Amino acid sequence: MTVRLEDVTVHFGHTVALEGLDLTVAAGETVALLGPSGSGKSTALKAVAGFVRPSRGRIWLDGKDVTDVPPARRGIGVVVQQYALFPHLRVADNVAFGLRAARKPKAEVARRVGEMLEMVGMAKFARRYPRELSGGQQQRVAIARALAIQPPVLLLDEPLAALDAQLRADMLGELQKLRREVPDVAIIYVTHDQSEALALADRIAVMRDARLVDIAPAADLYAAPPSAFTASFLGGANLLPVDVVDGGVRLAGQTMLGLGPHAGARPTGGGLLLCIRPHAIKLASDGGWPGQLVAAQWRGASSRLTCTIDGLPGVPVQVDVPADGRVPEVGAKVSIELPVEACTLVAAEGR
Ligand code: ADP
Repeated sequence: MTVRLEDVTVHFGHTVALEGLDLTVAAGETVALLGPSGSGKSTALKAVAGFVRPSRGRIWLDGKDVTDVPPARRGIGVVVQQYALFPHLRVADNVAFGLRAARKPKAEVARRVGEMLEMVGMAKFARRYPRELSGGQQQRVAIARALAIQPPVLLLDEPLAALDAQLRADMLGELQKLRREVPDVAIIYVTHDQSEALALADRIAVMRDARLVDIAPAADLYAAPPSAFTASFLGGANLLPVDVVDGGVRLAGQTMLGLGPHAGARPTGGGLLLCIRPHAIKLASDGGWPGQLVAAQWRGASSRLTCTIDGLPGVPVQVDVPADGRVPEVGAKVSIELPVEACTLVAAEGR
């Protein structure tokens, strides 16, 4: 089933929570809504689920306008951060809830509940109450419950946010597996975590201040971010001010030639920025841009170095080096190599 949001706008009093969102999610596609807290992601999801009424715009499911259809009649599966299981019902009865509400025959309910609990690895826990489960187990049950009714659309709102880091990584793997088991379901996945979006989504829609900023296949957005906001939100790119000159760009007095295939951005009011990710920068003994190491932070598998480039005051350059690499002393002169194939250009924001 295709989900389509057309110009969906939601106001809460004077707050504009969502402004003119146009988005289509195809059957079998996963789209992540990614953005900082308060950017309108959950509101978009709630509008699709029917929990909030758009002030303007329409919601379509397979070409049918459902804007005025109540949530229960949209047949959509929803999973939220806080699991929201029924505390007084055992696991199996939680999963059976929607099927019973739809008056499915007993035998079908039992079969389907069994299948769903098997799929999320919770068959052993069918007779437990939610309070007898860990957070990760509760979230698995919530997913089983949402999928039990075989919804053509599944909405996930920060489903991993309440879990600790290790469990989050495990559940992320399980969600990837789950996607393959329900190949025709359209999935909208709300998160502020870029790694979840990159791991799960076919396309990522980046949200900011109630608006959609960029939308593209995850790999494209990462490799060639169309905006400075997306470049820094997705992958923490360095953004260095440059001038366009004949055949290249000029950064801190040196000209860089032949920027890569994605380097097509044209300056708007704010000029152009060179975008390069911290792991793509190399520290060399000579060549490159002269600068200084101002801070180093060990992060286990890698170190995050903060450097400055001579002639570019106030623009810290983040560099990630493998932990087994040599890290110069803080304060040392360094030479910063910006491999041209790892650089793209984005327009600086005019505001
Ligand atoms: P996100 O999911 O990206 O964190 P939300 O969609 O929850 O953002 O919220 C977008 C904006 O709308 C925020 O400024 C938030 O405070 C506001 N908002 C969300 N829900 C309500 C509500 N029920 N009443 C008033 N304001 C709300």
